Amino acid sequence: MRKPLIAGNWKMNGSAELIETFGRTFAGVELPSPVDVVVHPPFPYLDAARSAFAGTPLSLGAQTLNPLHSGARTGEVSGQMLAEFGVEYVLAGHSERRQLYHESDEQVYERVIAALTVGIRPILCVGETLEERDAGQSENVVLRQVGYVMARLEPGQRRMMTIAYEPVWAIGTGRTATPEQAQQMMAAIRDYQASFDPALADALRLLYGGSMNASNAQELLAQGDIDGGLIGGASLKVDDFKAICQSAG
Ligand code: PGA
Repeated sequence: MRKPLIAGNWKMNGSAELIETFGRTFAGVELPSPVDVVVHPPFPYLDAARSAFAGTPLSLGAQTLNPLHSGARTGEVSGQMLAEFGVEYVLAGHSERRQLYHESDEQVYERVIAALTVGIRPILCVGETLEERDAGQSENVVLRQVGYVMARLEPGQRRMMTIAYEPVWAIGTGRTATPEQAQQMMAAIRDYQASFDPALADALRLLYGGSMNASNAQELLAQGDIDGGLIGGASLKVDDFKAICQSAG
């Protein structure tokens, strides 16, 4: 019932050549019919990606945005600019942004609103650190991050949202959450969502992220509440990313 979404987060990696490779490869790719695929390259490649991805199943995503429309914010990019380049999805609250750039729940919320205002679908990233997991706080942390944003949105805005659960200890470490751990958290997120918007809870897409790759994707995606993946490292290898996309649906 929920259409799977596979999202590739290139982070500060990739090249113009890799954009071309993705465009060429995905032009001929057979995907299971109901699957959305989005690639989030760094800003400078968005324009080239828009051309290279035309006629392929790949949509265009960005990795962040500034909440302001325009103004004196050296180095920043607004949602309006992303929309002009055909960006359909944007990440908000990735753990690297939360940790390295100190983005708070409030700042994540502002970014979500800025994206929604220009019609871009936010992928809200949430997840606990290893210390928080060891302290038995995983669910509290994740539901706080989800609730801070979701509870403040209008029902129509919530329908534009995707949530990516990415345990921080699983990102880029090669240590994946077990399918059971991931499923357990997804179910908790969906239950929580049902507590204030039951109609949405069934429709909300939940992605798993954290060392997902071509070998473990199928097992993770087979879990009842996992509707896709947010993939970092493995999204830079076109054959691996293609294989993950093919195992969805
Ligand atoms: P990873 O990154 O797949 O390299 O663990 C996931 C992410 O940070 O979104």
